[in-house]
Amino acid sequence: MFGRYAPSPSGDLHVGNLRTALLAWMFARSSGRGFRMRVEDLDRVRPGAQEQQLADLAALGIDWDRPVVLQSQRRTVYDDAVSRLVARGLTYECFCTRREIADAASAPHGVPGHYPGTCRRLTEAQRAERRAERPAALRLAAGVDQFTVRDLLHGTYTGPVDDLVLVRNDGVPAYNLAVVVDDAEMDVDQVVRGDDLLASAPRQAYLATLLGTVPPHYAHVALAVNGLGKRLAKRDGAVTLGDLRALGWSQADVVAAIADSLGMAARDAAGMLAEFDPAALPRTPWVFAPPEPVAG
Ligand code: GLU
Repeated sequence: MFGRYAPSPSGDLHVGNLRTALLAWMFARSSGRGFRMRVEDLDRVRPGAQEQQLADLAALGIDWDRPVVLQSQRRTVYDDAVSRLVARGLTYECFCTRREIADAASAPHGVPGHYPGTCRRLTEAQRAERRAERPAALRLAAGVDQFTVRDLLHGTYTGPVDDLVLVRNDGVPAYNLAVVVDDAEMDVDQVVRGDDLLASAPRQAYLATLLGTVPPHYAHVALAVNGLGKRLAKRDGAVTLGDLRALGWSQADVVAAIADSLGMAARDAAGMLAEFDPAALPRTPWVFAPPEPVAG
């Protein structure tokens, strides 16, 4: 079985992403798993970003097994999974606009971010009428309101499950569907990623059970943040390997900074792997202060 890292090729990875990738790699390798790489390129692709991301990950000492999987080349796999759910009557067409969904969620009994199931209740005649107006997205007719996952760092975590989108109204498979189908099909049974995705784990695990697979073991790790405690972003300054190199940091310096942030003495990826102890991981975000360019 495998762990994995699944970057979206929308730009360069920053030190927070690189740290999460190193953690995913250490979790996998230290538990006797293989490690796989998946490029999540169904959306927001920046030309050249994929190659740069993979080069940066390799430069840090991360290695992976089997060919890199590209989501853009797997449409038939997603279509097949969707067909199975459709055949079981577990889906429905949704014609709601973003505005309608936001309004419904802010209504007196609405749950923020939770789709209230408006289109689930449409009659066939109403459906036909709305089909003429706009293309439909396809949603899961969820049979539960919440689902519980096990997370190595967060313990038992229960979170809401709504009628999530499976296929967007432009025909592109939705993130939640692709992630679940891919992890199952790539023999991934360990998902290590940023804790901004912890809240997505219950719906993904639920979808996995509907597709007949056992949900993976999760570990949602604390993110890197800027000096204001906000999630680290490119606009925070020199945060990518390329930016840091331009300021005189070597790859080894970046790995050492990540090791320090994890309370590890090792100075390279192999040493970190040897030292890795999930129980000793910090549970709070890593505050990364980008170095200032040297004046003159
Ligand atoms: N592609 C997602 C991201 O870059 C990660 C998805 C996942 O790990 O499940 O945020």
